[in-house]
Amino acid sequence: MRSLLLFLLLLGLAGLELAGPAWAQESLHGHMRYPEAAPEDLVAVCTGNSPRLHKDAAQALRVMIEAARADGTDLRALSCFRSIQKQRYLFCRHVCDPRGQVCGKSCDGRRESEKARAQVSAPPGHSEHATGYAVDFADGRNRKCDFEICFGGTEASLWLAENAATFGFELSFPEDNAQGISFEPWHWRFVGTPEARQLFQAARQRYPASPAVR
Ligand SMILES: [Zn+2]
Repeated sequence: MRSLLLFLLLLGLAGLELAGPAWAQESLHGHMRYPEAAPEDLVAVCTGNSPRLHKDAAQALRVMIEAARADGTDLRALSCFRSIQKQRYLFCRHVCDPRGQVCGKSCDGRRESEKARAQVSAPPGHSEHATGYAVDFADGRNRKCDFEICFGGTEASLWLAENAATFGFELSFPEDNAQGISFEPWHWRFVGTPEARQLFQAARQRYPASPAVR
């Protein structure tokens, strides 16, 4: 009896290992669920108003920006860690959705549904930025394209497409992604450590990044 219980326990653990943690399986309007990084794991390294990043990704980021500079490219890391609370503000400030699951019921002139809003912004608790492993990049010589599709045509973007995977970064939301999220050529996630890979395992299986880290 005891060995049967042990067998069942091991089977359960093996299943957990394969599927990843239960929270990772939950998605909302196509966005995977993510936990928030521990404050002690974050260091200030990005230049915008969300400057903190997980220390492991920060290390890789510094080396990558230096490598880009050596190639004559002015690669900037603009927006990095965002708390779930800040993500709630960014997401809900445009939303009025009586049947929504995330934002309040009052409208104050807002009109977007949560589903429509989710095409361009992750609902709180579902943003890669909360993990501390996501970076929004810019080209220092073409700031007009910050957070715009035209970033995809900049020197920095072309450099990233060619080199970022070597440093552990991959493009989360490529053009025409199956996830149904709008193309974000500036948004890259770090998967260069086992911990980071574990966090993004479910997303990577369902919706492969491109360019992706092998
Ligand atoms: Zn982003």
